[in-house]
Amino acid sequence: MIKINQLKLSIEHSKESLEDKIAKTLKIPKEQILHYEIAKRSIDARKKNEILYIYSIEVEVTNEKKIIDRCKNQNVVLTKKTVYQTIKDGTQPMKHRPVVVGTGPAGIFCALKLAEDGFKPIVIERGEDVDKRVETVNTFWKENKLNNESNVQFGEGGAGTFSDGKLNTLVKDVTGRNTEVLRMFVEHGAPTEILYLNKPHIGTDRLRGVVKAMRNRIIQLGGEVRFKTKLTDIQFEKDQVTSIEVNGRETIPCDVLVLAIGHSARDTFEMLYKKQFDIKSKPFAIGVRMEHPQEIISKSQYGDSYTKLPAADYKVTHQTSNGRGVYSFCMCPGGFVVNASSESDRLVVNGMSNYDRDEKNANSAIIVTVNPEDFDEDSPLAGMEFQRKWERLAYEEGKGKVPVQLFGDFEANRPSTKLGSMTPNLKGEYTLGNVRNCLPEYVCESIIEGVHAFDKKIHGFSKADAIMLGVETRTSSPIKMIRNEAFESNIAGVYPCGEGAGYAGGITSAAMDGIKVYEMIVHKYKSL
Ligand code: FAD
Repeated sequence: MIKINQLKLSIEHSKESLEDKIAKTLKIPKEQILHYEIAKRSIDARKKNEILYIYSIEVEVTNEKKIIDRCKNQNVVLTKKTVYQTIKDGTQPMKHRPVVVGTGPAGIFCALKLAEDGFKPIVIERGEDVDKRVETVNTFWKENKLNNESNVQFGEGGAGTFSDGKLNTLVKDVTGRNTEVLRMFVEHGAPTEILYLNKPHIGTDRLRGVVKAMRNRIIQLGGEVRFKTKLTDIQFEKDQVTSIEVNGRETIPCDVLVLAIGHSARDTFEMLYKKQFDIKSKPFAIGVRMEHPQEIISKSQYGDSYTKLPAADYKVTHQTSNGRGVYSFCMCPGGFVVNASSESDRLVVNGMSNYDRDEKNANSAIIVTVNPEDFDEDSPLAGMEFQRKWERLAYEEGKGKVPVQLFGDFEANRPSTKLGSMTPNLKGEYTLGNVRNCLPEYVCESIIEGVHAFDKKIHGFSKADAIMLGVETRTSSPIKMIRNEAFESNIAGVYPCGEGAGYAGGITSAAMDGIKVYEMIVHKYKSL
């Protein structure tokens, strides 16, 4: 197959002009193209008066070698598709069905792959199925009554169900796992464009259906998915898992247990620590969610062409004078800020968007790295307690509602008393206050310095009435669960997996880790 890289076309081009350009680049008549596929599409916005789409196209033709030689174009190369493959050479029999804990991307991809190979997994999830969960979360946002077991962090689909559904990852796809994740998403209802867009996203509205379709497929293949079923204890003999306890009363025997519990399962982390699982604390980042009018962002990124393009995103970073890294994270173009709390009397925010990303505000976490040295104690769970401390202060500052402050007031360290030209686009209730009371001073200073630095790249970023919402603390897991080269923990048969265990950051990398854990299981065990 031939790959054409760097094929540039105007943002308003037609399908026909793309095909013309392919033929012209290969110096062949259009009829000679047997088949073509878009492998990647990104936006080149370096020249604001000439914004272009840049394509990588895979083309099937006969006489590939001859065409390449004749083209004499370094952007036209011979290529082979990386096809995802698994070595299923396990010989050890499993005594019981494997149990997967958590239906976030890590758990669901691991479980679905196991189900496809005939392992009939039992999947347990503390939260509700996605339909009931949506109702529960909507009630929380309207009435501020939190369900500690089914919320923005917990329930079918995991933490990403109420998200922007961004699917880009920094992990290189040498094994084809990334493509496999996207393929499986599409197979279960995600838009096909995610296969080639440089920054693919699904949107919370579409993701909910995809998650449900994946669950139904697991069940169709003989698996079992149980909601409102929380892992509460693990039993083992001679350092090998033998069974688990759920909801404090029922025992499920198992010799393979996948722990895909996400970064917010604090009670489960405490149980694992008590049971002497090998856990370490790790760095993460904390800060605020910041909102700007989407128009400012889109105009800054795309100039006057912004109305012809999807809502623009941004990624900004800065090294502060106090030696900290401050950066934007999980940016949601045209989205909502959400109250993403999962513990009573504590408050945390995050962002989500629909597929169309057509809300008036852009939002992003603006966060600062924190290290175990910043935590108040030395325990492996110290980072988790550190998160709890700031989340409690946020809850108190807002008296249970999301505390909101204008950037100018944040800088002046005074509570906001009125809004400026924009209003928060928030799912949940808010109250004006001083977000600075809910974060360490070094984090606030870093944010202020960072926001001014970002204004040099995106004019208007530091506008005094830009909105800050507190606090953003669940940016990644506060712990790492150690696993060996076979991906097992210090207890054999227990596979820490995904973001909560410290092996992923985001939907796609969590799903990829779920697949990696599945590979390790089928490399050791044969199916039932
Ligand atoms: P999770 O998705 O957290 O899943 C863990 C699951 O385990 C949960 O469903 C939980 O209920 C369950 N569980 C926990 N403990 C137990 C127990 N004891 N018993 C049974 N079940 C248990 N990432 C992106 O890449 N793009 C985005 O656009 C994006 N936006 C986000 C927006 C929001 C609002 C949030 C909260 C997160 C967002 N993220 C985003 C992060 C992303 O959701 C996570 O990185 C990802 O979901 C991690 O996957 P996971 O499977 O490891 O864990």
